[in-house]
Amino acid sequence: MQSLAGRLERCAINTATLGHQLPIEQMIDAVARAGFGAIAAWRQELQDRRVEVIGRRIRDAGLKVSGLCRSTFIPAPTRALFLANIEDNRHAIDQAAALEAACFVVVGGGLAQGSKDLAGARAQLGEGLALLLEHARSAGVPLALEALHPMYCADRSCLSTLEQALDLCEVLDSHRSGALGVAVDVYHVWWDPKLEAQIERAGQSQRLLAFHVCDWLVPTRDLLLDRGMMGDGVIELHRIRGWMERSGYADAVEVEIFSRDNWWKRPVSETLEVCAERLQTVC
Ligand code: ZN
Repeated sequence: MQSLAGRLERCAINTATLGHQLPIEQMIDAVARAGFGAIAAWRQELQDRRVEVIGRRIRDAGLKVSGLCRSTFIPAPTRALFLANIEDNRHAIDQAAALEAACFVVVGGGLAQGSKDLAGARAQLGEGLALLLEHARSAGVPLALEALHPMYCADRSCLSTLEQALDLCEVLDSHRSGALGVAVDVYHVWWDPKLEAQIERAGQSQRLLAFHVCDWLVPTRDLLLDRGMMGDGVIELHRIRGWMERSGYADAVEVEIFSRDNWWKRPVSETLEVCAERLQTVC
């Protein structure tokens, strides 16, 4: 496998890595200046903006959009709220299309508020995705299902493994339209004994849409906001990227670090510099 040294154009920065310190325009400029090839944006950064204008600005800076984060959680306690979540996601898919994003990242949601019905949450997620899939096809933006670590099952994602996400893809999109696939985020799946086999399976069905990297710190002090910089933790990043590439993945290696007490406190330029260095040496 080819090293990423000298190939930062293969690499992307997810704006969450920069701690939401700057408006999107300034993050675009900073990421481009640091030599990366792509950026992944969050919906909240597009509020009060014309998405087409932001899309043009990104392209003018020489960047691609590796993804738009992320879906509104789908399971809901009432039918009306469920349908409102679907509508919200349709709008977000349109925004992803306007940005020419490579995918719309779907984090499915956990249990509906006040519910203990996990099977019901998973059923709602399947139904919701079926409703969104047609819209994604016509918008030309694939949905990238991101399985989240099982510790988030109650409140963020009732999809916990890559296998589960791929099973759902097969059910909803058996003819492989290209509109449904997966985002592989090492933070969520690095521990999975089936990871290598499931990445291979995803490659065979052409469902590898995104690859997110960071590291798992020992100890981890916050389950959401203490992700590590690549190389500072225990994830075999180089090996997992090897599995991705052997399975045909040739798109962006995207850095996504939520780090409230460390990287989010540092200047954006420093974080970008360290990301660049680590991508080229430990990924
Ligand atoms: Zn991710």
